[in-house]
Amino acid sequence: MKSGCVSSDLKAAGWIPGRATTGGEVPGYSRTGIRKSRTSRWRGAALIALNLFMIAHIIQWRIMGKTISPIEPSETMHTLQKGFVNAGFIFFSLAILATLIFGRFVCGWGCHILALQDLCGWLLKKMGLHPKPFRSRLLVYVPLIGALYMFVWPTAYRLFSNPHGPVLPTFTNHLVTTNFWQTFPSVAVAIPFLFICGFVTVYFLGQKGFCTYACPYGGFFGLADKFSPGKIRVTPACNQCGHCTATCTSNVLVHAEVKQYGMVVDPGCMKCMDCVSVCPNDALYFGFGKPTILVPKSDAIRKNYSLTWPEEIVGTLVFMGSFLAARGVYALVPFLMALGCAAVTTFLTLKMWRLLRARELSLYRFNLKSSGKIRKAGWAFAAFACAWIGLNAHSGWVRYHEFLGNLAFQKIQLPDELALAQANPARWLRPADGENIVEGKKHYEAASNLGLFVNSEALPKLAWFEYLLGDAEQSVQVLSQAAAHQKGESKALSLYYRGAILNRLGRYEEARASLDEALAERDDLILARQEKGESLWQLGHRDEAISVWTDAVQRNTRLALANNELAGAERLSGKLEEASAHERQADQFTPNNPFYHWMLGRRLQDLGMTELAEKHFQQASKLGREGGIPNER
Ligand code: SF4
Ligand code: SF4
Repeated sequence: MKSGCVSSDLKAAGWIPGRATTGGEVPGYSRTGIRKSRTSRWRGAALIALNLFMIAHIIQWRIMGKTISPIEPSETMHTLQKGFVNAGFIFFSLAILATLIFGRFVCGWGCHILALQDLCGWLLKKMGLHPKPFRSRLLVYVPLIGALYMFVWPTAYRLFSNPHGPVLPTFTNHLVTTNFWQTFPSVAVAIPFLFICGFVTVYFLGQKGFCTYACPYGGFFGLADKFSPGKIRVTPACNQCGHCTATCTSNVLVHAEVKQYGMVVDPGCMKCMDCVSVCPNDALYFGFGKPTILVPKSDAIRKNYSLTWPEEIVGTLVFMGSFLAARGVYALVPFLMALGCAAVTTFLTLKMWRLLRARELSLYRFNLKSSGKIRKAGWAFAAFACAWIGLNAHSGWVRYHEFLGNLAFQKIQLPDELALAQANPARWLRPADGENIVEGKKHYEAASNLGLFVNSEALPKLAWFEYLLGDAEQSVQVLSQAAAHQKGESKALSLYYRGAILNRLGRYEEARASLDEALAERDDLILARQEKGESLWQLGHRDEAISVWTDAVQRNTRLALANNELAGAERLSGKLEEASAHERQADQFTPNNPFYHWMLGRRLQDLGMTELAEKHFQQASKLGREGGIPNER
């Protein structure tokens, strides 16, 4: 410590510079003689209050069934993609606005992931481990790239794919929700997510490891901070003691920056105010003035980086590969978690490389290698790193098969209605479809055989492949398996398809049960209602079937099939006037497509509504003469 940097309190207490670690602590000071931050308590209280508020929000939703939509920046994606104006979008907009004026306070005082990182840093310090920052020149751009991908790419993509369409979607009010958790991962995913992003990143990458190398919101906050006039600034009282830099957990070279620029310019500064609080000369303050963007950049401040340039390049490639491997694997790993995993994988890979090549290597106080010999701690580290990197590589292999399976699925062009018109849709498949189905099935099966977890989004697609290949029984089984791993809308859809296929197989009782379960999951799934009417009709519960179809067309008057079914039922019971009304309604919304008419004919024929079925078959063959539809039923 530089002489003259000891505060008057310490001098009064008889503190001798240089002996801090051997003596006891002076109240209000750390063992190193640096004043303890008084603002850290306030910040701790703010972050605890934030977490309590989040818990209260969830409890209020569970009790009342309805609440304000999640106050979470990621919700902004739904605003930009679908036009849903939600609380997350409003919060994020206000937070960016506040950052443009006051700087990056929201990160330091209002982020639950930062709270976790601080908690982990505090626990590690209690264990005598001081998280060391990992400094990379290239990976610091990850948050900004992540932010552009999350918040700019959806709009850009819409513009590219539909240049004449609107730039922004139509906005609708989604400030209140009954399905608070809809856009969040399950608790089983949230726990490892918080563990990796809050704890593992701190241990390996430093106290703000996730903020620095992964957080996409930080990418925008950091950018906005460059424009803000609100900054940590310095008075002439500074004598370059470095207490501020030693205290900063955001790895800002505070003493150097205030000397060079008169203020902190690093966009990583989260305005925690610790440096202001610990300065023995009270030389720092928060104040307004020139923003970073207007200050000429100087090369005078030299940062020490953890990596050489070749390591930076290898690290970037490892990061990209690891991110692609983890992102969405098993339909479980969310975007932010994949970024956190990739940052840790990069660190471990480069450290492992050094473990093999360097003569001396340590991590915290652990000696990994000395005099060219790997020590016990080194072997333990190597075992952990190999397990982590191996798991990541395995995820990459699974993800590769999932990706190719999804690609093959997207190439299938056969409409669902046509495929579901009879138990075996083989006649409608083009040769290219057949190849895609076989290929896609092969990849999904490979992913499933190798995988450690069930991919609940791939299973329904695999079931669809089975159905298209003519194995309806197997398809039903796979859909049951999918539904057992799903919830909400996805579960309802799997159960609906299961019910529809069971109807085609003539297993009406099971079909009805499956469709009832689908409706219990999503009451507004009208197609399940239409299908349930068919099960009831076939089971002889005709009044109930009519009531279910009526309910369906009341919810959506454009349902051509349900209107036809009602018309057919009414014809059979002699209610000709009502039948004509429903027939007219159906015709109004029936696409002028031979395949659609054929599908209607087939479904009505199965229900014994032969007159109406015949009408649609004739229409199909009339239109089909131009469209090439086979003349079979
Ligand atoms: S601003 Fe930093 S370097 Fe300057 S006196 Fe205060 S703590 Fe020391
Ligand atoms: S520079 Fe100061 S205010 Fe900014 S993060 Fe570091 S300690 Fe906190």
